[in-house]
Amino acid sequence: MTYSQNHFQDLIAHCKEYGYIFQSSELYDGLSAVYDYGQLGAQLKKNLRDEWWKSMTQLHENIVGIDAAIFMHPTVWKASGHVDNFSDPMIDNKDSKKRYRVDHLIENFADELKANGQDQKAEDLLAAMDALLAKDDFAGLKKLIEENAIKCSISKTCNWTDVRQFNLMFKTEFGAIATDNPDDNIVYLRPETAQGIFVNFLNVQKTGRMKIPFGIAQTGKAFRNEIVARQFIFRMREFEQMEMQYFIRPGSQMQWYEYWKAERKKWHESIGIPGGMLRYHDHVKLAHYADAAVDIEFEFPFGWKELEGIHSRTDFDLSQHAKYSKKKIQYFDNDIDPTTNKAYGNYTPFVVETSVGLDRLFLTIISLSYAEEKWTKEDGTEDSRVVMRIPPKLAPTKLAILPLVKKDGLPELARELMEDCKSSFMCFYEEKDAIGKRYRRMDAIGTPFCVTIDHQTKEDGTVTIRYRDDMRQVRIAMSAVKNIVMDKIG
Ligand code: ATP
Repeated sequence: MTYSQNHFQDLIAHCKEYGYIFQSSELYDGLSAVYDYGQLGAQLKKNLRDEWWKSMTQLHENIVGIDAAIFMHPTVWKASGHVDNFSDPMIDNKDSKKRYRVDHLIENFADELKANGQDQKAEDLLAAMDALLAKDDFAGLKKLIEENAIKCSISKTCNWTDVRQFNLMFKTEFGAIATDNPDDNIVYLRPETAQGIFVNFLNVQKTGRMKIPFGIAQTGKAFRNEIVARQFIFRMREFEQMEMQYFIRPGSQMQWYEYWKAERKKWHESIGIPGGMLRYHDHVKLAHYADAAVDIEFEFPFGWKELEGIHSRTDFDLSQHAKYSKKKIQYFDNDIDPTTNKAYGNYTPFVVETSVGLDRLFLTIISLSYAEEKWTKEDGTEDSRVVMRIPPKLAPTKLAILPLVKKDGLPELARELMEDCKSSFMCFYEEKDAIGKRYRRMDAIGTPFCVTIDHQTKEDGTVTIRYRDDMRQVRIAMSAVKNIVMDKIG
């Protein structure tokens, strides 16, 4: 798929105009990189979350879901390494005072080189950056920026500070107990949902009598004080993650890593993302907890970017929590190891994680769905529409029920259909405006099916069903509507 030149800006405006996404606190000129989901956005987001939750928990007998709190004991983040390591290298421009994430600054410059046909120079630059990042060589990174004369986009100067680490966790105070040490009251807003799963590993394993391999899934808010937060809901300071930790025998991690890598790509395709717009990208610099990591990238309107991460996290997290809590976090495996003919016995499980941002998945679906269409009608005149081709099973509203006129008993018949359908799926009732205008509005919000009740309905019980994607209109029995829609969204 090729995006139109203004696709992304048009999409952002469309989301606001039709109640998908609003800037947070817009009344007060907004809060940077924080967004509110409106009446349609909240429903689409819920449908995506439900789809993920069902695929993880209901469709896998050995994966269960939990809902852990956002606040956690501060030692959790010491043990997980986030207090010491969850940071990005950043650099400030001394003239504009603007702060950049070093990798973003260099990547943007590489994009400019590519746009000017200097592909090889761009590739060399990115390779040099990856090598320096992998070694945490901050002086080297600064030198690379200076050697390439990379400028600040505001001041247009190369007057840079040294490269420094910037921790991305938000801190707040817990309770109102005065202590001598102000650090005693610090809690963090979780920067990932995963730790809520790790600290509940034993609770879930014991109470659910789970046998390895098994998974724990969770969806919920996460918070990161991103240095450069931009590109709409792609990079936010408050966002939602859908994560699953799969607990496995030590030594089997590469097998499960490959398995989940393939499974997750297949899942994205199953919800309507074309395979050709997804690709894998192996991590060069591994996070402090990982022995292998890959991103599933999607071709967004602003380029290929990470949608989901699959990480082989070893036994790092469980071992760290055992160490810091001074409690034993192990699993007794009484299956027989064929190589020794003895039970596997006690061990700290390894973990393969799948982690997808719900907001990024949302952005993926709406980027793909938004289209401005123009065509010539049979009488030679031009026509156009804006349509959101959201896959029917994800669309916020499934069916619009539209009486042709506001009288002659048509609204009553339409209400009957509404009563019949509304407990099974989201319906929308509208009797205002000409029917063509109502269809266009439903196209713009992505409603896949419209049903019009007219005078003929009174005579023979038939209605017109109109399909969003090809604008086909077909006469069917009103009694068949519910099953047709159920079938398409099933
Ligand atoms: P990036 O490299 O884009 O900063 P990351 O590698 O730090 O992302 P992970 O820690 O692997 O991201 O988080 C898992 C998923 O959470 C990501 O694949 C992404 O979909 C989502 N995510 C991470 N940070 C944000 C954010 N600031 N806003 C929205 N979604 C995010």
